[in-house]
Formats: sequence, C-alpha cells, structure tokens
Amino acid sequence: MPGGVYLCPAVVGTGNLNNLDTELSRRLDALRALGLHRELQRVDSPQSPRVKIGDRIFLNFSSNDYLALANEPQIKEAAVRAVERYGAGAGSSRLLCGSLAPHHELDETLASFKGTEAALSFSSGYAAAIGTLCALAGKDDVIVVDKLVHACIVDAARLSGAKLRVFAHNDLNDLEKILKWARRRPGACHPAPRALVVTESVFSMDGDQAPLGELIALKERYGAWLMVDEAHATGLYGKHRRGLAEECGPSGRIEIQMGTLGKAVGSAGGCICGSRTLIEYLINRARSFIFSTAPVPAAAAAAAAGVRFIQSNAGENRRNALWDRVQELNSKFKIQNSKNRSAIIPVIVGPEGKTVEAAAALREQGIFVPAIRYPTVGRGKARLRVSVTAAHSTADICELAAALVRLQLVNRKS
Ligand SMILES: *Cc1c(COP(=O)(O)O)cnc(C)c1O
Repeated sequence: MPGGVYLCPAVVGTGNLNNLDTELSRRLDALRALGLHRELQRVDSPQSPRVKIGDRIFLNFSSNDYLALANEPQIKEAAVRAVERYGAGAGSSRLLCGSLAPHHELDETLASFKGTEAALSFSSGYAAAIGTLCALAGKDDVIVVDKLVHACIVDAARLSGAKLRVFAHNDLNDLEKILKWARRRPGACHPAPRALVVTESVFSMDGDQAPLGELIALKERYGAWLMVDEAHATGLYGKHRRGLAEECGPSGRIEIQMGTLGKAVGSAGGCICGSRTLIEYLINRARSFIFSTAPVPAAAAAAAAGVRFIQSNAGENRRNALWDRVQELNSKFKIQNSKNRSAIIPVIVGPEGKTVEAAAALREQGIFVPAIRYPTVGRGKARLRVSVTAAHSTADICELAAALVRLQLVNRKS
C-alpha cells in the first residue's frame, strides 16, 4: 500500500458500494412518495399502556401484549431464574447440544395447554411457519391460503415450492372450488392428493375470525389438511384460553395448530402443536428448527411461565378485563367487526398518506397507534390498528375514543 496509508472503500468513495447506496436511496424515495416509508421508533420503557418515546410519555395502543404479560413480575422472574441457572445463550441448535431443560419444559407446557399430544417451540412464529410448511409440502402439493394470512405464511408457502392458491377472505365457496381443482389436477399423483389449507383464526390486521367449524368440515370432505395460526387468539379465546379453536370446539380435528409466544404469552418464539408424529417429523425436517440456534433459555422459561399464567385464575381475570375494555371501546363508537370480540380494532382510513397523517395527529394528542400500510395490508386499505390490552384502564379507553372522535376518524355512537 503506497505510503502505508490504508483507505477503506467507503472513504475512497468509489466502487460498487456507492452504486448500491445510490440505487437504494432512489428506492427509498419512491417509498416516501407513496407514503410507504417506515422507520423505527425507539421506546425507552417496557411494554405497557404507557410508553416513553423521546422525552414524552404516550398512551400506547400498538402492542400485541394483550394480557400485559411482557412486563409481568412473575414472568420476568422466570426469565431471570433461567439466566441464572442455564446462562444467557443456548450454545447451539437443539439437535446438537442446545436442547436445554427450559425448552423441553416449554414444549410440554404448550402441549398440555393446547390439549395436543405434543408441541414444538421455534425461535419465532415466522420460523415456525417457514419450517413447518416447507417440511410438510413440496412441489407436488397444493397450499391454499386465505387472502389475508400473515406474510410469514405466504413466504413459507412460496419457499416450499408447492403450488400456492389463495381463496377470498373467509370465502368457503371459493375455497371449495380450489379444493375441487386440487383433487382433479393432473399432477395429483398421490393416492390422496395433498392439499394443505392455511388460515389465521383471528386475523392480525382486521380482528375478524375464520369460520373454523365450517373450514374443518370442508377440509375433511376433501381430505385436505388444515393449519390454523392462532397468533392473535392464543390466551384470549375458549374456556381454557387455548385459542379460537377451543372456543369453536373442534381443535382435535385441526392437524396443525400454530401459535406465537411473543403476543399474549408475553415472551418470544413460535410453536406448533399437534400429534406426536407431526412433532417428531418436524424435529427431523423443519429446517428453521434444525439449522438455527435454540432460543435463549430466558425466552423459553418466560414463555412457559406466560402459558402457566394464562392457565391460572389470574389469566382468566386478565382475559376478562381485556374483553371489558374492548366492550367499553365498542360502546363509544361503531367499530368494524364489532360482532366478533377481538383485541384488534381496525380504524380503516384508506389512503396511505392520510393514514400516516391520522397517526401523527393522534401522536400530537399523546396517543400512539400505528399506521398500518401496504404491504402489511392491501394498497388503499391503510388503517390505524388499535390494539387493546388488559392493562388499559377505562379512562385510557375514553381518552382514545374521544381523540378518534375529535379527529373525525370514527363516529360517536348516539
Ligand atoms: C406476529 C405473527 C406471526 C409471527 O410471529 P413472530 O413470533 O412475531 O415471528 C405469525 N402469524 C401471525 C398471524 C402474526 O400476527
């Protein structure tokens, strides 16, 4: 190097790196022009109805911490105890030496909570979807998903190489047409052609519910398999708060129950619950499970403590408090899907730019509600996604409703 001076490429300022940044800046500008640019908000407090952003405290209606477990002392203690006993990291994938006691305890707790033979936890719900769909379906198979399923299911279905078909949201007739086609299709060479139907039980951005009973009857008629993502229902529905499948009755007839551990459960991770054979198969074939370091012991222990909390009387009280708050909000203004009980309340605005403005206006009033835009929801279907938690007070609900009315985002109920 001449004169021994080393200039790193970024300082020299030429070459491919710069071209990359130029190109990416152009793409980011395009996102800005469409009202689709996103940025991170640094929050300096735990999840709770009030969060600290910058030097201001906001009333928070953006969290999926529905039962207020993310900062629950009992659950934090479980995480701390796991750190003390098992350390900060798991060291390796579970199939090497990272399958620590807290992971096994979590899997057992999940199976007994959901009432299934077995369960397997993953590092995230996203990883659970990717690992499971890719393990179960391949290029000879068909995956049929509801139009509004979460991005991780769409990504998983694409990655699996299976034929992906989309049925109109909650439209059983449309689903049946696709199942008929799947049965007839020339590539259907198995004795029983594999079609795997995937839906959410409570939809993440609309808060409405899948007709699980009818879906189960339909998939049985066509010999298809069903996977139900209970991300926004686990902990909230059913006598034992297992999810919407429990409330609708037929959970034993769903082959694959998926859940997340980072929402109502208050920790992080994802899970699949089902038969012992399904779980054994996933341990052998789910690549996101096999080729990924096991979650930290603290996450597994906190998730198990979260599930136990949900199962307890305290869990029932939290759930009831949540429905009380939702009911209070319902009584203030007319909300979409009000016939379904849901902690997710969409206030549809439509245009992306207008939705961002509405969120900013609410923030001026000290209320934090996210503007949800494409690609999380369809273009022109942007919305404020209000999520209520058990820790909100009646006064918090009143404050939100008053602000929404004041900004003319909703109509007050007369
Ligand atoms: C959040 C979410 C996931 C992903 O779960 P993570 O644990 O956050 O990766 C999957 N499905 C639905 C419906 C979700 O809302």
